[in-house]
Amino acid sequence: MEQRTRVGNRLLAALPPADLDLLVRHFRLVELERDAVLVRSGDPIERIYFPLSGLVAFIMDMPSGQTVATAVVGNEGAVGVLTTLGPSRSPMTAVVRVAGTALQISPAQFQAALERSSALRGAVQTLIRALMAQFQHVAACNALHSVTARLARWLLEVHDRVDGKILPVTQDTLSELLGVRRPTVTHVVSKLRASGGIRSNRRSSIEIDRPRLEAAACECYQLMRRRIDLIVLTEEMKSPPLGAEASLFAGADEVRRRTPTRGASGQRPRHH
Ligand SMILES: [Zn+2]
Repeated sequence: MEQRTRVGNRLLAALPPADLDLLVRHFRLVELERDAVLVRSGDPIERIYFPLSGLVAFIMDMPSGQTVATAVVGNEGAVGVLTTLGPSRSPMTAVVRVAGTALQISPAQFQAALERSSALRGAVQTLIRALMAQFQHVAACNALHSVTARLARWLLEVHDRVDGKILPVTQDTLSELLGVRRPTVTHVVSKLRASGGIRSNRRSSIEIDRPRLEAAACECYQLMRRRIDLIVLTEEMKSPPLGAEASLFAGADEVRRRTPTRGASGQRPRHH
């Protein structure tokens, strides 16, 4: 299981090779640059992304200009798959908050593969169920838990999707994740520093102490993780990967040869 997270997108790695091949020929390896908007709320979904690394935040933009994150996605998921439910405009804005790389495909090409692959349909259903679970937990967490506990939870979520103990997140990103203003972020960061969950913080990075951060987070983090793991594991048991990792990586390499990109680096090992 851990091996899969090292070689690419977990959702794709769980597909049988023949099903994956339906997608690989259409994939384009792209950079996810920090702060890049992949789709804006209200716009048609024109591209689907499967992150190999980095972190994308799903954001609700309010008419007042306030924003709040409703979910984050890394190499365990995808951006834009809601379009498979039918042509629609994006209900949220998706913004890259930690730079990385992704495999990109058009909705039409993805839909064509979907019609030929029951394994891919299963994977998309899993992804949408996991995303809905995250939306539900975040809604409950926002209503019930303190800003400090919520910040600890978001930092753990970011840590699950990046390497090392130093998280490349800005105060603005934290403000957006929490839906609070910068002075509140400064206050809760200092509280987590005092309790040891945050070891140090700079303008655009935060060094964490994971065990202490886990102690400071609300129960939502563990609950959400267990629930999503259960959804994903149930689906994986239905369609064993049969060496899909190697096939995915070969496909990505092929895409990389055909489509030069700046500094694409593939996937890095995770350390916790
Ligand atoms: Zn919570």
